[in-house]
Amino acid sequence: MQTLEATAEAVIDLAEPGPLGRELLDHQSRTESSARTYPRRLPVAIGEAEGSYITDVDGRRYIDFLSGAGVLALGHNHPHLIAAVQSQLGKLTHGLDLPTPVREEFKRRQLGMLPESMRGSMKMHFCGPTGADGVEAAVKLCKKATGRGTVVAFQGSYHGSTHAAMSLTSEVQPKAGLHNLLPGIHFAPYGYCHRCPLSLTPDTCATNCAEFLANALNDTHGGIQPPAAIILELVQGEGGSIPAPVAFVRRIAELARALDIPLIVDEVQTGCGRTGTWFAFEQYGIEPDVIVASKGLSGMGLPVSVIMFNERLDGWSPGSHIGTFRGNNLAFASANAYLDVVARDNLLAHVRERGAQLMAGLRQLQVDTALISDVRGRGLMLGMEMSACGTVAASEVASRFQREALRRGLIVEIGGREDCVVRLLPALNLPAETADEALAIMRAAARAVEHDLVAVA
Ligand code: PMP
Repeated sequence: MQTLEATAEAVIDLAEPGPLGRELLDHQSRTESSARTYPRRLPVAIGEAEGSYITDVDGRRYIDFLSGAGVLALGHNHPHLIAAVQSQLGKLTHGLDLPTPVREEFKRRQLGMLPESMRGSMKMHFCGPTGADGVEAAVKLCKKATGRGTVVAFQGSYHGSTHAAMSLTSEVQPKAGLHNLLPGIHFAPYGYCHRCPLSLTPDTCATNCAEFLANALNDTHGGIQPPAAIILELVQGEGGSIPAPVAFVRRIAELARALDIPLIVDEVQTGCGRTGTWFAFEQYGIEPDVIVASKGLSGMGLPVSVIMFNERLDGWSPGSHIGTFRGNNLAFASANAYLDVVARDNLLAHVRERGAQLMAGLRQLQVDTALISDVRGRGLMLGMEMSACGTVAASEVASRFQREALRRGLIVEIGGREDCVVRLLPALNLPAETADEALAIMRAAARAVEHDLVAVA
């Protein structure tokens, strides 16, 4: 019998597109803007997909650890979700913000997923169908409710690509040459212990990153007007799969409460089961004032975005935040079916188990190779920060690893500072055997990268 290890070594180069794939990728590069991203590093033209697997237009199979940027909670084409959408299709697709049975069920069940202590006081607003629009809505809500203008965000953050969401995003490069972004955004240090923003080590640290913000906000000369909101990712996704330390988050939440600053948690990527609880904030013992949810909500990539917020913040009047596409009844039907599966299949426990399985494999890989400086994550939102090897930069190591994984049929994403973090976002119903198959490919990819680096040295 062929072992997984051996399978992973049997390289047919899947990073080189076949003839049909080449044609589509070439056509795309001629006809789409230079802002396109994924196909540059992942030249895969998708034919069809099922569960955790993608088949490209030339019939080659890949394990999908990107999942449409964390959108496909149940992977591709889950039969229960398809059935729910099909049964909704003949009834109603788009309903603006008029009530419909699936919309009201969606709202009731989503609010019902919140911790019991929050359920009675939270309201929902339907946003335009992207995470960025949810972020826009959250910030506008807090500005209106507080009558204030500034917002505190964190270094390493990603909140989207619209003007305000990009203003709240920490990455400098996409903003180059883009004048007049939203003013009044202050970036505070995040609890990124692997590269402490204050150059501390665990023995010298007293959650100083959170204290830095506490001092700035309490200091009459701290330079920050009382903010309308603090916006926080519990695990920074695009920033490099960085889970915030518990003490950091608790201190920020305590500070926000003490100073009467609404706390927005951006759960666009961490939400809907990704980290092993329905929302990541549940693992921190905090109660945020506003939650932004989008990506995984429908379970299958039908666009929908909402904010859930404490009713005391509802200072909005009719039309304060609107948009045409806030009534995607197919997405609501699919989201309701997704919640059936979450309960029926005990999905959150499954996420924690598969997360632990992958984490153990990655930790072993870190021990066995010199390529990885940190392994981290929560649930199925995992990352490996790569090391520089000799004269080869960490970003180049990550890029080579991504390509070697792709050559062997595993799609992984790269992110974080200097693009040196390999990010894993598999489907939440990932089978244990597929997780093992992916680990075997990653082991083989790491060996190939090491082999090349030795050859270079
Ligand atoms: N917030 C977070 C935390 C995200 O990860 C993203 C998307 N990667 C967004 C907001 C923006 O979502 P969208 O791309 O749907 O606008």
